[in-house]
Amino acid sequence: MAYAYDDQNIFAKILRGEIPNDTVLETEHTLAFADIRPQAPTHVLVIPKGAYVTYDHFAAEASDAEIVDFTRAVAKVVEMTGVGADAGPGARFISNAGEHGVQEVPHFHLHVLGGRMLGRMLD
Ligand code: 5GP
Repeated sequence: MAYAYDDQNIFAKILRGEIPNDTVLETEHTLAFADIRPQAPTHVLVIPKGAYVTYDHFAAEASDAEIVDFTRAVAKVVEMTGVGADAGPGARFISNAGEHGVQEVPHFHLHVLGGRMLGRMLD
């Protein structure tokens, strides 16, 4: 399946520097920034700089370098925010995809949520 990437989505504009963001971490292939409507004390969005629509798109088509960079950036964000289940009370990692996943922004992003007791997520 071919994923159609809309380069006018809000995260594409953030990546191009057209709108500001509260950056947590930037690496060669990845950007992490605070969610504008935080659902928890820690709510960071981690996105690849490449044009991927969903997690499965990224997983299928990104280069090994992009995938490793992204994955290590997630670990770094967890370390920086102290929400990991190793050193802290735990966190949640979510990626919504497509219509049924209720994805608002069509650029792949991982939500990193923590800092409070989270409710059950499936409904
Ligand atoms: P989705 O529903 O696509 O998984 O989540 C999109 C997320 O992007 C939402 O949590 C929303 O608050 C966040 N968001 C939408 N527009 C902006 C923006 O302009 N800046 C930032 N930092 N976050 C945004």
